[in-house]
Amino acid sequence: MNNTCPSSAQCPIFNGILSGKTLASQSYRDLFCEAGENKWSNCKRFLTKKRFGKCPPDLLPNSFDTIEQIGKLYKL
Ligand code: SF4
Repeated sequence: MNNTCPSSAQCPIFNGILSGKTLASQSYRDLFCEAGENKWSNCKRFLTKKRFGKCPPDLLPNSFDTIEQIGKLYKL
């Protein structure tokens, strides 16, 4: 079974492009990206991309906003 999120190749969080936040990137990878399907499938970045076909670069995996709120906020 593949534990890694299928969006990881293009994801800025997974690829450590959160500028100055290397530690946070590693935490997100441990908590979501590489933690198995029941974790990455609940990531707000994953869910946003699934719903809207794209995801804002600065959205965090554990955003408190709902997918609907994210869609409105970022005009997706
Ligand atoms: S779990 Fe979320 S943050 Fe991690 S690679 Fe997938 S979409 Fe990106």
